[in-house]
Amino acid sequence: MTALSFTHTPNANPASDADRAAILADPGFGKHFTDHMVTATWTTDAGWHDGAVTAYGPISLMPSAAVLHYAQEIFEGLKAYRHEDGSVWGFRPYANAQRMARSATRLALPPLPEEDFLASLRAIVEADKAWVPGPGESGEKSLYLRPFMFASEAFLGVRPAAEVTYSVIASPAGAYFAGGLKPVTLWISEHYARAGAGGTGAAKCGGNYASSLAGQLEGAEHGCDQAVFLDSSTHTYIEELGGMNLFFVTKDNRLVTPELTGTILEGVTRSSILGLSKELGLDPEERRIEIEEWKDGVRSGDIVEIFACGTAAVVTPVGELRWEGGQAPSTAGEAGGEVTNAIRSRLLDVQYGRVEDTHGWLTQL
Ligand code: PMP
Repeated sequence: MTALSFTHTPNANPASDADRAAILADPGFGKHFTDHMVTATWTTDAGWHDGAVTAYGPISLMPSAAVLHYAQEIFEGLKAYRHEDGSVWGFRPYANAQRMARSATRLALPPLPEEDFLASLRAIVEADKAWVPGPGESGEKSLYLRPFMFASEAFLGVRPAAEVTYSVIASPAGAYFAGGLKPVTLWISEHYARAGAGGTGAAKCGGNYASSLAGQLEGAEHGCDQAVFLDSSTHTYIEELGGMNLFFVTKDNRLVTPELTGTILEGVTRSSILGLSKELGLDPEERRIEIEEWKDGVRSGDIVEIFACGTAAVVTPVGELRWEGGQAPSTAGEAGGEVTNAIRSRLLDVQYGRVEDTHGWLTQL
């Protein structure tokens, strides 16, 4: 199959330099969008075609479009980082391409070839280069890229759609947590699971996020920032947060994270942290972790730090854990422990090209 190319129709009415500068000065997260978007179409007959870069704007869909009824949809999230010399880089974008292909297979969507995925990222970054901020004072500004794919066929039968739309939008990002880096308080979601065995937990599909919201809301009602989801069958083992993976640092320098069971999303940040662990003097361990181990471990001192990780928030210290009728204390102090912050800094240094990329994780966009 021929590689997808993207015809470019520039936005006739782009943001003014002053408006763009005002947004880039304080981008927040997920609130502002660049001047352009990428789209492409897949049909059973023609495969992937009609790649285009056009002005960012509404998508026209029939009310019968399958995605609106059966949620046949997947997405990705990664960032473009501007280095000091002005060049723009992606952090392990092929890992996102591969994860998106795995998600596609699970949701019976057509996998987009890796090189087409990369070409789509390059097409939007090229069109909206002026929207890629340098790290700035917060040290972590970037352009968040959101590739997504959905069943656009107008058809109400339940079967894989014969017409699918792929798109990439881009959003300048500052620090994910508005209040700066402070430990997040977590709520154990005991009634709501995020994913079940044989389900879609390992895929990045919209439905997983919809099903996490009731747990998040319950957490918020108890003064928590995020919810921790447990395995759906025994409610015993720790899985992950609604949008981040979890790590535990033990007093004997082990770096423990829940193993991939098929119900957890395999984070690119998670896998990178496992890859960095040895050089930071930590022994990585992927295994099942009981929620009781967390409660007991922070009390006994066996667990010395806990953090969450993901592309959007990088590494976030985890503080107190709460549940119906109880709580376990924070190990994070005011701004997270030493290991948490060392891992966070190392990742950012690699992403912004401040240290040698010994793992070959950067790809120029
Ligand atoms: N778990 C879930 C459920 C997520 O949505 C994300 C964000 N993509 C992650 C973990 C972290 O993944 P990554 O490090 O690739 O951003």
